[in-house]
Amino acid sequence: MHDAPLPLHHAGKIWLVGAGPGDPDLLTVKAARLIAGADLIVHDGLVDTAILALASPHAELVSVAKQRSRHTLPQDGINALLVDAARAGRDVVRLKGGDPFIFGRGGEELEAARAAGIACEIVPGITAATGCAAAAGLPLTHRDHAHSVSFVAGQCKDLTDQDWSGLAGHGRTLVVYMGIATAAAIADKLMADGVAPELPVAVLEKGTRADQRALRTLLADLGDMVVREGVKSPALIVIGAVAALADADDRLHALAAEAERTL
Ligand code: SAH
Repeated sequence: MHDAPLPLHHAGKIWLVGAGPGDPDLLTVKAARLIAGADLIVHDGLVDTAILALASPHAELVSVAKQRSRHTLPQDGINALLVDAARAGRDVVRLKGGDPFIFGRGGEELEAARAAGIACEIVPGITAATGCAAAAGLPLTHRDHAHSVSFVAGQCKDLTDQDWSGLAGHGRTLVVYMGIATAAAIADKLMADGVAPELPVAVLEKGTRADQRALRTLLADLGDMVVREGVKSPALIVIGAVAALADADDRLHALAAEAERTL
């Protein structure tokens, strides 16, 4: 409540806080404390309602949920909202799915805060790759299978311009965020770059949530499997030998068994 004019020296602050991949138990202690103490929480659509429920009853909650085809509030508007509120003396938590600095536009919001001379602190969160991989028993690196792991964004915009050669294949793990709508194009792109069509691929849907699914197939079948299974966002694609180690529904085997039965 800020009915009375605030003393001029009281400057607010912005915290860019990672909310983790879904399961509220995967919040950091610091994130939980900041959520409980914030005056204003500006959150995106991936943040679970159980996490928002930790907010103080006096806090104002603003959703800036983003959808592929529709931006509720453009990034400039979000930046202005955060900066104006902090200038007015409020403690602002900008709550984001996963980690603010992994495909979370945290960098842009930090720049806006810096440009406005507002104090801004980053609170890391468990990013979807590590959260979902843990939930599926899928080690992203493994001494026998993968000595490097890369995170890429698979949106259709600029997909053809991106150079992923060298990121997938023997001894490597490639994790694709925001790649479900373009899964078939991603598989084609990698195979055109020489990645083996029989490389294992896992699709981790709604990871760490009660209704999560882990599906697995081979790279050549990725696009078809996403359609067949009706995979919904949010989902991650993990490409590499480690995908074979996951606790996943092996759709390819199931389909092969079905085909055999009908013969
Ligand atoms: N900052 C976030 C990523 C935002 S981009 C982070 O660090 O995790 C949004 C993408 O993250 C989604 O399209 C999806 O690919 C992935 N993602 C986020 N939460 C997920 C979840 N619970 N399960 C699977 N993928 C998820």
